[in-house]
Amino acid sequence: MIMMFTFDDIIGQDSIIKELKEALAHQTISHAYIFEGPAGAGKSTLANAFCQAIVCEEHKPCGVCGACRRFEAGTHPDYKVIAPEKNTIGVDKIRELIGDIYINPYMADRKVYVVDQAQSMTVQAQNALLKTLEDPPPYAVIILLTTGADNLLPTVVSRCLIYKLKPVPLTHVEDILIRRFNASPGDAKQAAAASDGIIGKAISIINDSAWQALHRSALNNLQNIVRDRWDAFFAAEEFLVEHKDDIDAILDSWADFIRGKLLDAKVSDFTLFRWSSIMECVDAARKALASNANYQLTADVLLLNILEVVDNAHSSGSTF
Ligand SMILES: [Zn+2]
Repeated sequence: MIMMFTFDDIIGQDSIIKELKEALAHQTISHAYIFEGPAGAGKSTLANAFCQAIVCEEHKPCGVCGACRRFEAGTHPDYKVIAPEKNTIGVDKIRELIGDIYINPYMADRKVYVVDQAQSMTVQAQNALLKTLEDPPPYAVIILLTTGADNLLPTVVSRCLIYKLKPVPLTHVEDILIRRFNASPGDAKQAAAASDGIIGKAISIINDSAWQALHRSALNNLQNIVRDRWDAFFAAEEFLVEHKDDIDAILDSWADFIRGKLLDAKVSDFTLFRWSSIMECVDAARKALASNANYQLTADVLLLNILEVVDNAHSSGSTF
């Protein structure tokens, strides 16, 4: 079952979409494309929308014409996807494609082929495809999706129009997570930061309840230490020891929370100073871990340093 994607579903690739829409409007569609980008960048979504637009009677995709309906039902005869089997696309698969490509389209005025994870084509498969790329039938469109065009034969790459999907600005990712996925602003910010601007990654992070639980526990532990001091120390220590593998994400959560405090115009200069001291403790722990310091020792030093900042604040008669 094919899901319907329109160009509006693709986030942060406006210049590519503009060019593809122009090619559709003027019917100057190339015979071969490469959509390149990391997993989760939206290559398949983009290819899906573009292929539907190519076969659509309105070249949009309109979603209502007979061609669109068949496309969305996964039964359009002029659209085929080739995907790896056991991580490889062998020459037989490509020979099948070539056997099919020279038969005239059934419904549309073009025939469209998507090769997913094209970098998994064997050299033999790529060489077989190359012959078709050099002399394609006039109606054929082949779209190669790949995480890295470097892994394709240069002769194949040189026959294709390449579009590189770029990482999406983090503020844009945050906005999408809040508006489309109902994420809280705090969670959205964290997930966006962890996604490196790869929208699919951000969405899977926000949908991952284990990640959300970790993020919340991390913040609870920091806030408990600041409020309850020694009463919260051992629970926080246990948390850090238990989540040794997630320490980067935990420190990111803390740093992000502290950054929020530092940007809060309502807090006093004194409080700002305290929070920036805590940020220094977090940074010091990161540096220690990066230089392979003992984990448990680093975790304890981090918590003790934070406690010292908090204790100083209390003994001088102020709170956070
Ligand atoms: Zn249509």
